[in-house]
Amino acid sequence: MELSERIALTKDLIRKREEIDEQLTALLCGEVKKKAVKCSSCGETGHTARSCPARATPETT
Ligand SMILES: [Zn+2]
Repeated sequence: MELSERIALTKDLIRKREEIDEQLTALLCGEVKKKAVKCSSCGETGHTARSCPARATPETT
């Protein structure tokens, strides 16, 4: 497996884990917090610019 593949897969898994974490928190807290996050990078909802799957090139600040 190539490094770029691994990075992409890692990002994807982290994103999924965050979604699962949110759902678990909502379940445990008995509260569904619907935060409609909007990506400032691609404009889609459901993720932030930091976890944007469309952003292929990682930026170093
Ligand atoms: Zn995005």
